[in-house]
Amino acid sequence: MSIADPTLLRPKIPLPRLVDFHRIVIKVGSSLLVDADGVRRDWLSSLAVDIAALQTRGAEVLVVSSGSIALGRRVLGLPPGALKLEDSQAAASVGQIALARTWAEVLGDVGITAGQILLTYGDTEERRRYLNARATIGRLLAMKAVPVINENDSVATQEIRYGDNDRLAARVATMASADLLILFSDVAGLYTAPPASDPDATLIPVVPRITAEIEAMAGGAASILSRGGMRTKVEAGKIATTGGAHMLIADGRIINPVQRLLDGAPCTWFLSPSNPVTARKKWIAGSIEPRGTVTVDAGAARAIQAGNSLLPAGVRRIEGPFKRGDCVLIRVDDAGEIGRGLIAYSADKAAQIIGRRSHEIEAVLGAPGRAELIHRDDMVLAGE
Ligand code: GLU
Repeated sequence: MSIADPTLLRPKIPLPRLVDFHRIVIKVGSSLLVDADGVRRDWLSSLAVDIAALQTRGAEVLVVSSGSIALGRRVLGLPPGALKLEDSQAAASVGQIALARTWAEVLGDVGITAGQILLTYGDTEERRRYLNARATIGRLLAMKAVPVINENDSVATQEIRYGDNDRLAARVATMASADLLILFSDVAGLYTAPPASDPDATLIPVVPRITAEIEAMAGGAASILSRGGMRTKVEAGKIATTGGAHMLIADGRIINPVQRLLDGAPCTWFLSPSNPVTARKKWIAGSIEPRGTVTVDAGAARAIQAGNSLLPAGVRRIEGPFKRGDCVLIRVDDAGEIGRGLIAYSADKAAQIIGRRSHEIEAVLGAPGRAELIHRDDMVLAGE
């Protein structure tokens, strides 16, 4: 295949350096985790060592791990080939237990606590649930735990599921405001043609932008164990790079796959034009129709303009109706709109807690709630 854009093979831009990233999502495909004998434990342990090394350098790490269906089908003795939905749900249910236990053990061996999160499509696409998952991930990372995430395949239905963990991992990366997504699979990256069938296939080191030519190179095929082929990886690239995360695809089959990348192993970078914070703020500023208004006092206005979250205490009144996770305008009585953000409470709950101190929230609502009405990461101010 001849390349219309020759700079793809001789990039003029400097490649990013792995050491410069702060929040990294590592996606591990089924074929790396599971072979005919079950979990590839030695390999997984070597990845756990790499994750510990990333943490030691100050990076936060999340894992999106496939393998539940592959593991479960072995245990249940299901035949090879495509599975009926009920069978893949049963396999996922059996396999996910073993998968989670293995992750907890290998991470535990290097002193890291693992936390399991199983997501459905709705958890990432519905704003209210999205905020929940995002908050849980944030807490786990603050406690230096590693969230180990998979699709909740035992309840996902055919129509409303990811089905592949490449796109799920990309959504997780944007949800968690990660700055890097690493897709470990059984190929070194994106080639100009399928490397298995074309001896002239060349690895593309960096994709500055996903064009029609790049999509054409991705083709279709997927192996039996992993659902996502190169096509879903390029789709994942679109999601991740739009959300402000760079993505890289690399061969994960080797021991210590992250260390190998640091040593310069070949891979393909997909570059994002922005970073997670600007991408998220752009999304809040531009693409959401505000559902209500929060009017704050001058002290709260000063506090948020100084970079703080909006607390209930500084809010004078609200106008709704809005649901938790909706976008609302932030106003000051005599200065008009000063910004907008995603609100952490529904209008009826917000109405009860405004003017109150954060420690009073539990007593007022009868259940613990978030201290912030709008978190500063979920807010964009005029002029930003
Ligand atoms: N969520 C599926 C599993 O854990 C894997 C999907 C994929 O291979 O991308 O088995």
